[in-house]
Amino acid sequence: MTTQLIRPTSPALDAILGKTFRVLDDGFVRVVDYMGTDSSIVQAARVSYGDGTKKVSEDRALIRYLLRNYHTTPFEMCTLKLHVRVPMDTWRQWIRHRTASVNEYSTRYSIAIDGAQMTKPDQWRQQAQDNKQGSAGYFDEVRGAELSAAEQSLHALSKDVYNSRLEQGVAREQARKDLPLSTYTEAFWQMDLHNLLHFLALRMDAHAQLEIRQYAETIGEQIVSQWVPMAWEAFKDYRFGRMTLSQQDQELLALIAAGKDQAAAEWCKEKKWLRTKDGKDILSREALEFTDKVTRLGMTPPWEG
Ligand SMILES: Cc1cc2nc3c(=O)[nH]c(=O)nc-3n(C[C@H](O)[C@H](O)[C@H](O)COP(=O)(O)OP(=O)(O)OC[C@H]3O[C@@H](n4cnc5c(N)ncnc54)[C@H](O)[C@@H]3O)c2cc1C
Repeated sequence: MTTQLIRPTSPALDAILGKTFRVLDDGFVRVVDYMGTDSSIVQAARVSYGDGTKKVSEDRALIRYLLRNYHTTPFEMCTLKLHVRVPMDTWRQWIRHRTASVNEYSTRYSIAIDGAQMTKPDQWRQQAQDNKQGSAGYFDEVRGAELSAAEQSLHALSKDVYNSRLEQGVAREQARKDLPLSTYTEAFWQMDLHNLLHFLALRMDAHAQLEIRQYAETIGEQIVSQWVPMAWEAFKDYRFGRMTLSQQDQELLALIAAGKDQAAAEWCKEKKWLRTKDGKDILSREALEFTDKVTRLGMTPPWEG
């Protein structure tokens, strides 16, 4: 006997299928296709856990339980296919996520996309002093205008050299080698929801570079939130918004909560979270990260007390 199945669809995602979400100056993200919805996650889980009841509130509770407890495979039952347009330097970070299926525009086969990401005068970021991988603050507009003008000249020169090589018959695969990393590429990028949430957790995080963060936020807030709202809510709660406390974090937190200031100070010295050099207090990286955590909890670390 054949059981007639109805394909699960997301009306909210159907409504934005093919819509272009602009990112950066000339990039975009578009949903090309998808498979599954919140109900597919529940359906897959119920093969493991039995039928249960089918109330919406219980679907939500099940999805939250699964996400909270790393029951990951039901989330792999949903898949999202995107068409993205991304500058090469951002794409270089993006493509590190190995669990996607990707087809990228070929600049061996076709002429490179005639578009490079431009930075506005007020968008040039300064190197952060406390984080070698990060930026902190912006240049003033006068300096920014100079940086943008230099960028424009560089783009124009590299474009001229590229076009001239093509005109002279240089192979496209070689002619492209001096194009800037700001040149846009396009790809079809498909990933299951489990791995997509992992990608979003890493790339929406404040430590991710601003440019890829803007793409990740667009995918997360504009697309995934519409597609699988229950999974998205659980993700925001248990994955993206969570705070992890290591065993050492917990030890120190317990001392702070108990008001044992002296013991907390000794603990910090013993674990080398706090040391003194040339009369200055130096905090380890773990101590700095702990500062963020306790501050979020409305508490004060021993070195600030
Ligand atoms: C803020 C930030 C800074 C970064 N800085 C650097 C840097 O300086 N240099 C650098 O090289 N990279 C850097 N990366 C890239 C980072 O190290 C990862 O390569 C990238 O984030 C992809 O993560 P992933 O491997 O977990 O994801 P995916 O490739 O999407 O894989 C998802 C998960 O699948 C599993 N998996 C996939 N492939 C394998 C495998 N072959 N073996 C075992 N398990 C596998 C893992 O559990 C993995 O977490 C940075 C990333 C971030 C977010």
